[in-house]
Amino acid sequence: MTEGDGRLRALLIAPPGAGKGTQAERLSTHFGVSHISTGDVFRRDVAEGTKLGRQVGEYLDRGDLVPDGVVGEVVRQEVMRALRETGGYLLDGFPRTVPQAESAYALALELGITAHGVLTYVVPRAVLLERLLGRGSEDGRTDDEAATIRHRLDVYDAQTAPLLDYYDQRGLLIPIDADRPVDDVTADSIAALERALAAGSPVSS
Ligand code: AMP
Repeated sequence: MTEGDGRLRALLIAPPGAGKGTQAERLSTHFGVSHISTGDVFRRDVAEGTKLGRQVGEYLDRGDLVPDGVVGEVVRQEVMRALRETGGYLLDGFPRTVPQAESAYALALELGITAHGVLTYVVPRAVLLERLLGRGSEDGRTDDEAATIRHRLDVYDAQTAPLLDYYDQRGLLIPIDADRPVDDVTADSIAALERALAAGSPVSS
């Protein structure tokens, strides 16, 4: 069963440093949908000193994942808002664990809005390390210091990479070689998402 209509609903799963923030911004603009970045939501709340910010600040500083329950609530609100405002979304940085993926799927089924596709960016670890070390010195992100960077890559391998199999088995995974110029990655991502959108989302896979 497919839904051939509507705006794009897609997920972007990639290790730190793969360029997912930049690409998600471009892709959401191209498709006219909301860009939901859980990392951006958390960083904004930390900067503003909100209750959520005080809850998650230490996790971000250590490069650990915020507990699934906290993330789930944020995503539910952001997805509901995205559907009201643009009718679609590009989720950047969520899900990051198998339980998050399962609860995202349950929510999507409940709302009748399962995703059209799941992009993943493939970049060698040595390239990620080099990019992240450069980014830390440029914009001073507190989670972009050498030891934290290595830890975040390890957390990705241990907790997030297993999701790729989960989505592959559901026929949703779209791997993109992201060790290439940014514009090439954008072009391939757009082409792949156009195809996924045209095919419609598998509702009961
Ligand atoms: P990002 O900007 O996507 O690299 O996220 C920055 C940080 O926010 C991560 O290192 C985590 O501490 C936290 N974070 C963002 N998204 C999630 C998520 N889906 N689950 C748990 N923690 C998250």
